[in-house]
Amino acid sequence: MNVKRIFFVISFPLISLFSFGQVSKPEGNAGILRAGFAKIDITPSIPVKLYGYSSRKTYSEGTHDPLSVRAVIFENNGKKFVLVSSDIGSYGSEVFPVIQKSILEKFNLKESELFLSTIHSHSAPVLSLNAETGDPNNIEYTKTLQQKLLTVIREAFDNLRPVHTGIGTGSSPVGSNRREMRPDGSITLGRNPYGITDKEVLVMKIASPDGTPVGALYDYATHSTSLGPHNMQISGDILGLSAQFVEKILGNEVITPVFAGASGNIDPWYRVLPEFNNEPGWIPEPVLLGTLLGEEVVHVYRSIKGVNPGGEISTAFATIECPRRKVEDNKSTPDQPLPATIPVNITVARIGNDVAFVGFNVEMLTEIGMEIKSGSPYKHTFIITHCNGASGYLPPAELYKEGGYEISATRFEIGSSDMVVKKALRMLYDLE
Ligand SMILES: [Zn+2]
Repeated sequence: MNVKRIFFVISFPLISLFSFGQVSKPEGNAGILRAGFAKIDITPSIPVKLYGYSSRKTYSEGTHDPLSVRAVIFENNGKKFVLVSSDIGSYGSEVFPVIQKSILEKFNLKESELFLSTIHSHSAPVLSLNAETGDPNNIEYTKTLQQKLLTVIREAFDNLRPVHTGIGTGSSPVGSNRREMRPDGSITLGRNPYGITDKEVLVMKIASPDGTPVGALYDYATHSTSLGPHNMQISGDILGLSAQFVEKILGNEVITPVFAGASGNIDPWYRVLPEFNNEPGWIPEPVLLGTLLGEEVVHVYRSIKGVNPGGEISTAFATIECPRRKVEDNKSTPDQPLPATIPVNITVARIGNDVAFVGFNVEMLTEIGMEIKSGSPYKHTFIITHCNGASGYLPPAELYKEGGYEISATRFEIGSSDMVVKKALRMLYDLE
C-alpha cells in the first residue's frame, strides 16, 4: 500500500461529500424506536453438498458447529426494516428472488425494508431450488430454510419492544489482505500483511430502556473461508464461530446478527486449512480466529456505556446496471447473448442521524467499502455484503491492471465500482 493510495481513499470521499452539498435531516424522534430479535437453527439434518469449492463433489460429513439465521427488525412510527444474517455461503442469483418474494409478500414489506444477507461461510450448504441442476438433498434443505426464514422473521416481529441503542468501534487483526505478490510480480491468493484491510469492528448494542441487553449487531470485513475444499464438516467458520462465542459470553438470550463487511479480497489470517485440527493442546485455527474476533465484539459491547432512545427510520432501494466486462464477450453466443450489464442491488437504511446500513449484492473489495464508510454522511455505516442477491466480485478500478483472482473472476467492467460508490453515497445523502 502506498501513501498515494491512502491519500486517494481518504481524500476522494471528502470531495464527494463536498460536491453532494449539505446534509439536512429532520432532528428529533417522531416516535419510539422498537426492535425485535429472533434466531433459528438451520444446521442441516441431512448430508448436503457444501458451498464454494467446485472440486468438492461429495456430501458433508457431520457438524463441527451449528448454523443459524439471526434476524432483527427495527420499527419506529410505522417505518421499519428487517436485517437478516444467515450462516450460509450465498442465496445465489436464482434462489434469492424466490425467497425474497416470499418474505416480502408474507410480511407486506417493500424491497427497501429487507436486508437478506449471508456470512459467506464455505462450510455451509449450497442452496438450490432447481430440480435439473441442484442436488435433491440441497433442494430439500433450501425449502426448509425458506420456511425457517419466515418463522424467524415472524418471531422477530412478535418480539418487537421499545429499545435504546448505542454504538462502539474496535479493531481486529483476524482478516488479512489475501492478494499476495509472487516474486514475478503476479498476484496469487495468499496473505499480504502489507495490503489494505478494514480492521474496524463496528458494534451496535440494543438494550431495553431499563438497560437489560437484548441484542448486538456487528460488522467485520473478512471471508469465512479458513477451511478449504478438504473440509467436509458443517461450520459457520470465522463469522459464525464469532457469533456463537459472543452469544455464549453475553448469555441471557442476547442475539447477535453478524454481517460480512467489504471482504472480497480479505481472508482469515489462517486460511484454507484442510480441516479442524483437533490434536491435543491445539486450538483449531477457525475457532481461534472466531474467538479472537468475538472477544473484540464483547469488549466493544461492554465498553458502550451510553444507550439512547434511538431515532427515526428511513430506507431506500435501487438497482443500478453496471457494464459487463468486455473480456466476457467470448461467452456470448448469437443464440444466447449475455446482457450488456450486470445489476447491483443497493439497500440503505438509517436509524436516527448517526447510524446507517448499506447492503450490496456483490463481493465488494475492501477498498470500496472503506471509501463508502468515509464518504457516508453518517458517523457509523454498516457495510453489508452478500446482501439481497449475488452478482459476484466488484473490484476497484486501480486493481484491474495488477490482476489476481478477484480480477479474473469479476464480470464487471472497470469503472463499475465508481458507479456503485457514487450511487450508494447519493442514496445515503438522500435518505429522508
Ligand atoms: Zn468469496
